[in-house]
Amino acid sequence: MVKLVDTRDLKSLGFCCASSSLASSIITSLLPKNYIAGGVRHSMVLLNILKYPDEKLKNPSETVVKFDNNIVKLINDMFETMYFNKAIGLAATQVDIHKQLIVIESSKTKVVLVNPVLLEGSGKDYSEEACLSIPNIVGFVVRTKSICIGTFDVKGYMYRIKANGILSICIQHEVEHLFGFLNIYR
Ligand SMILES: [Zn+2]
Repeated sequence: MVKLVDTRDLKSLGFCCASSSLASSIITSLLPKNYIAGGVRHSMVLLNILKYPDEKLKNPSETVVKFDNNIVKLINDMFETMYFNKAIGLAATQVDIHKQLIVIESSKTKVVLVNPVLLEGSGKDYSEEACLSIPNIVGFVVRTKSICIGTFDVKGYMYRIKANGILSICIQHEVEHLFGFLNIYR
């Protein structure tokens, strides 16, 4: 069963997009073959990942307004796709679905961001980031160190996440995808 949790108190960290083999083995072991959403059993689907220089990666994403079983299924398919590719972050833009949806795995905790908005940010951080949409390239990026994000969960409940370190970096990386931005355009 995929469990989507309230992450308001989440302080744990993970790697953005490209994860360590240890983290990915832990993640894979957590992954069910089937899940139940709204009482209906689904088989998860691997989604095709857009690769640079596909122009569709530049598409801005639309706000999610309907929180239904289709969104639940999409989020679970995004998790499946993320794990299969040994990543820990994925934006819907990367699978050619232009809605404001992000999935992240951070220390065994599944984080779902729907319509995320940056509320506060402070400090600077420096990161080396890989991206499933730009294979075999690592980007050196200056990021905001500490952030507070206002977002919705999969059921449409609003909540906030305060994040530091790599989780903060990962969120910022994935949010940029929603705006059609890639590291490689810097
Ligand atoms: Zn990326």
